Amino acid sequence: MKVLVPVKRVVDYNVKVRVKSDGTGVDIANVKMSMNPFDEIAVEEATRLKEGGKVTEIIAVSAGPTQSQETLRTAMAIGADRGILVETAEELQPLAVAKLLKAVADKEQPQLIILGKQAIDDDCNQTGQMLAALLGWPQATFASKVTVEGDKATVTREVDGGLETVALQLPAIVTTDLRLNEPRYVTLPNIMKAKKKPLENVKPADLGVDVTPRLKTLKVAEPPKRSAGIVVKTVDELVSKLKNEAKVI
Ligand code: AMP
Repeated sequence: MKVLVPVKRVVDYNVKVRVKSDGTGVDIANVKMSMNPFDEIAVEEATRLKEGGKVTEIIAVSAGPTQSQETLRTAMAIGADRGILVETAEELQPLAVAKLLKAVADKEQPQLIILGKQAIDDDCNQTGQMLAALLGWPQATFASKVTVEGDKATVTREVDGGLETVALQLPAIVTTDLRLNEPRYVTLPNIMKAKKKPLENVKPADLGVDVTPRLKTLKVAEPPKRSAGIVVKTVDELVSKLKNEAKVI
């Protein structure tokens, strides 16, 4: 069974992002970029399924600029067998990514596609759902447990106030939540091995996909600065401030 794992190159989660002075977006010049954390969880899960004998091949796919090759190499160092870069310098929105992934899935015929639940740069949480719709496959989003048996997957989902367990007929889409697993540390020998794994390069036009953005960003702004806190001396003072100043009780 083949598994496809889409991985996105995003600003590293430790970086404090800065909004460009003209408000057109976030400044990514000279900023550390890494694999989207939810995608690391997706690659780890695919790798565990392979180690458990449920999966025979893991294909990592990334859409974006040439540097996304590094993200694919990281995926291969975790456990992906090969990578596909859909290279483009265009801004990619979730619908365009979903269309590109559909074209890759049509070609590769995976039984399972594991995506992150959201990319931490755009916070869209849309690509997996759109891809499921385009392919007409069942989907289980926000997964905290995945088991595969024959042509069925059982997925525990993190829903508001609890957990929901669903059964899916493969082929299917799964998106990862934070508690699904803890990705392994990438070791130097595995980084070296990953350099020798196959990496295919295609362009959106090769896949017959028009990636023109459908949405226009009007403005990006920093959240308002938080004012400094104060220390109150008594509970009565706290209650009085909450009542009369903050007016929240
Ligand atoms: P989003 O809908 O943008 O929040 O992204 C959700 C998930 O879709 C990510 O965690 C990735 O697994 C996948 N994805 C989004 N953009 C890309 C991309 N450019 N290349 C590969 N995978 C992507």
